[in-house]
Amino acid sequence: MLGETCEICGWVIFRLKEDGKNSEEDFCLNRRCKGGRKYWKKQAMELKIRLR
Ligand SMILES: [Zn+2]
Repeated sequence: MLGETCEICGWVIFRLKEDGKNSEEDFCLNRRCKGGRKYWKKQAMELKIRLR
């Protein structure tokens, strides 16, 4: 089982579980895909926080 694939580009969907929350978020692993932008934006924000 490879899991879900993106409806837009066909890449594998990554499921992110947030700590302390029951919610799961699905993101496309393709940075150039609409479905992945939210995820990469979030990653960038977290990196900035860590760098401080
Ligand atoms: Zn995609």
